[in-house]
Amino acid sequence: MVQYDWRESEPKWQSKWKEWEIYRFDPASDKEIFSIDNPPRFASGNLHLGHAYGYTAIDFAARYKRLRGYNIFFPLCFDVNGTPVEVRVEKVKGIKASDIPRQEFIRMCSEFAENYIGEMTKQFEMLGESMDPSIYYQTDAEYYRRLTQISFVKMFKKGLVYKGHFPVNWCTRCGTALATAEVNYEHCMTQLNFIRFRDVETGDEVPIATTRPELLCTCLLVAVHPDDPSKAHLIGRELATPIFDKRIEVIADPKVDPQFGTGTVMICSIGDKDDLEWIMKYHLPLEEGIDKSGCMTSIAGEYEGMTVADARRQIIEDMRIPGLLIKQEDTDQNVGMCWRCGTPIEFLKVPQWFIKTTEFKDRVLAMVDEVDWHPEFMKVRIQDWVNSLAWDWVVSRQRYFATAIPLWECEDCGNVLVAEESECYIDPTETPPSEEKCSACGGRYVGSTDVFDTWMDSSISPLFNSYWERDPEMFKRLYPMSLRPQSHDIIRTWAFYTILREMLLIGEKPWNDVMIHGFIMAPDGRPMHASSGNTIDPMPLIEKYGGDAMRYYASTCSLGMDHAFKEQELVRGSRLAVKVWNVMRLIGSACGKRPERPEKVHPIDSWVLSKFGALVREVEARNDEYEFDRSMALIQDFLWHEFADHYIELAKQRAYSDNDEGAKYALYTVGLGLLKMASVFLPHVAEDAYQTSFKKNEEPVSIHISEWPEAPELDDDAERKGDCARNVVAAVRSWKSSNGLSLNTEIQRIEIVGETAAELMFGSEEDVRATLKAKELQVLASVELEESIKRIKPVHSRLGPEFKADAKEITEKLSSIDPTSFDIEEGLVRLTLSNGRAVELGPEFYKLEKHLSSDKGELEHISVDGFSVLIYR
Ligand SMILES: [Zn+2]
Ligand SMILES: [Zn+2]
Repeated sequence: MVQYDWRESEPKWQSKWKEWEIYRFDPASDKEIFSIDNPPRFASGNLHLGHAYGYTAIDFAARYKRLRGYNIFFPLCFDVNGTPVEVRVEKVKGIKASDIPRQEFIRMCSEFAENYIGEMTKQFEMLGESMDPSIYYQTDAEYYRRLTQISFVKMFKKGLVYKGHFPVNWCTRCGTALATAEVNYEHCMTQLNFIRFRDVETGDEVPIATTRPELLCTCLLVAVHPDDPSKAHLIGRELATPIFDKRIEVIADPKVDPQFGTGTVMICSIGDKDDLEWIMKYHLPLEEGIDKSGCMTSIAGEYEGMTVADARRQIIEDMRIPGLLIKQEDTDQNVGMCWRCGTPIEFLKVPQWFIKTTEFKDRVLAMVDEVDWHPEFMKVRIQDWVNSLAWDWVVSRQRYFATAIPLWECEDCGNVLVAEESECYIDPTETPPSEEKCSACGGRYVGSTDVFDTWMDSSISPLFNSYWERDPEMFKRLYPMSLRPQSHDIIRTWAFYTILREMLLIGEKPWNDVMIHGFIMAPDGRPMHASSGNTIDPMPLIEKYGGDAMRYYASTCSLGMDHAFKEQELVRGSRLAVKVWNVMRLIGSACGKRPERPEKVHPIDSWVLSKFGALVREVEARNDEYEFDRSMALIQDFLWHEFADHYIELAKQRAYSDNDEGAKYALYTVGLGLLKMASVFLPHVAEDAYQTSFKKNEEPVSIHISEWPEAPELDDDAERKGDCARNVVAAVRSWKSSNGLSLNTEIQRIEIVGETAAELMFGSEEDVRATLKAKELQVLASVELEESIKRIKPVHSRLGPEFKADAKEITEKLSSIDPTSFDIEEGLVRLTLSNGRAVELGPEFYKLEKHLSSDKGELEHISVDGFSVLIYR
């Protein structure tokens, strides 16, 4: 192969890596462990650009640490659980979960998700991700769910779990409770309805504005602001609600916004979070106007059985005719939606299991402080979230495809029997309890049909990974884990719940570092949404440009930021791969065997080694902060310019000669080092180049288990001198191309002139001469130069308009003036034309073409770094 072909190469190395098992975690090794709490990929099948980027960014960390000599723990894992799978199974099969037997539905979900795992594993391989299948897990497996249950039992026994009988966020479509973190707030335009209430005694009308008139049936109070003078007379009055004619009182409450609507608010049981607060505050009865499926209850009278939307429409119609509806206005409202399906959430009183959260806010915040957040500003997000929490975490869900809650409840008295740890994993709907009768009343125990919030499973991933409750020795070695990588949208869930749970269960932080990446947006910068039709499927892009090209794109994204997708970056990435391969091949062909460092290093070689040393240190510093975009940019720039354009050009002659070990040593050292650093980002081409050009001299079977390059000593003096040689070469080459000469054009002689030139150029003269194709090169302190005029060139654009018909004759006469007799001081040219006209031409009408010469002949002059480079063509 004389050209790099990723189509042939990428699949080849992917299968070799599997065969060699180079990514395998070695529990027997005494090397320091770097463990990654890899986000189990959700088993939904399709790879998004966000996944392709996110998992690749995590892989950068794994590959870097592997080269640094760590024993890497980087599990291949999948999240197989939860409502999204259920929703898709319902859709694909055209069924409703509640219509078929429970176990049958669970089996269908499991099969559905399982089908994707092979394909998703393949997609990871195509991206060159170095996850380890030997420590594989999936969250629906009994070995995993068992730990979720054990963790629950432990918390239950510590008194951290309770059953709450107050309203929870409820998705009427999914038919389940939701945690605060699972509610997304979105701005929607909705109608604010101004409706008439009536003062029972005086018959006066009291207008009230509401966005939810269908909740009139549950109206319990009307509130005004205590300092609102226009409403003072209402406080303590009794009003009658329209349609339902229910009697309610007007109270004063400082939470009322006197500027919103009419400044008079109806408090219902229960429309939104504010209602809920008022209900708690005034100890109001919880009358539910809406049931679990989102339909109106009997409280709603003639609206019973209608959906919320239908009831709203109908009640507005019904108020129109008797004039109870005054007017409607558009208003912008912040509506809570189910994060899975987008249905507006309701507050319903359905008893749920809670984990105590709010009382531990301070301890969670303290633990947040013990973790290193990358980027640092993401820490503020979790701190804000913790500070904003007003409710405990509701962990029960009324769903199917998830981990069962391991307990039974007495039908008669509600007494709870929780499973023993040794019984887990257990499905209490399938397995009878160990005690036959309720210990309190002798009643019958019934297994809980509730399941856990999916975050109950994922929030123990560090415990699962570190062999908690299975291998105390390994747990000691693996906990806390080194790194939790994740995206910013799940800070308030995954990151928060993990810290909370591990704080309560272990009392020690779950990881040392957190690395948070952003989203990939559509090319126009908007979020990608199927509904906007702007999603981009990464698979055709990977098939078009290759896995390394997609990884290159990922390497251009800075941590923590959202990025608009740029296909152009994949093009740049595939070009870089070819460049890397070609440069390494050149080194491979110049160096037959591994070159030794010579006693005395040539100045140009010292220069590149020192520059490379600085690069290695800088890349290490950036990688240690997970700023991989900065590293990739540095490596790319160095490889392409400093190394390929400058150093290789300067050292080529020596490298190919048989008696210069120094150039070979520098080429090999810097080349292989660069390749190793680039292998973090472009693992396929790096492996290919390693096998093609270096493997014959290197021990490790794969570049990915080789050692991170050692950084050569810095040498400021060598850098100063080498920069000088490089700049001379760059300047003469650019002079060649601006004069229409090819870079290979021979030059008779070059002089580098200046007081410090001899010192700066010492030792590199021959490299510079050969690179510039100069027959001779000399470095001098000074040269006597003479300036003379070579030609006088008429400026046609000035002469034509000024002299019209005479311009032609003037041009001829100007051109034929003998330049040696021209008096520059005078600056004026006097001519007499054939028609007798005498003209005087100032310097705007002609240009003097000067030339320089020395005793060696005619030359051209360019300035570089404060000295002169004289070129004798
Ligand atoms: Zn939902
Ligand atoms: Zn009982």
